[in-house]
Amino acid sequence: MYNAKAYSAASATAPLTADSIERRDLTENDVQIEILFCGICHSDLHMVRNEWSATPAIYPIVPGHEIVGRVTQVGSAVIMQKRNVDRSNDCSQRR
Ligand SMILES: [Zn+2]
Repeated sequence: MYNAKAYSAASATAPLTADSIERRDLTENDVQIEILFCGICHSDLHMVRNEWSATPAIYPIVPGHEIVGRVTQVGSAVIMQKRNVDRSNDCSQRR
């Protein structure tokens, strides 16, 4: 286990505050990324404010899934292709 810096909300009405969250150790199927930039989209805001009854929020919640970062560790079972990618997880591109 290790700790990572994060911004979390303690409840649906709480502001985001600096936090430290515990992460499990990497497995052979994981890729660890040093997050350099993180966007907060409307989906994140709905989750933080617990506005989607079909997927109730679990607090503390750490929003932000649109990130740009640098790969720092790769599990032994991970197969990667080197590409020039300018976004890693942009929900607006999902279909
Ligand atoms: Zn999003």
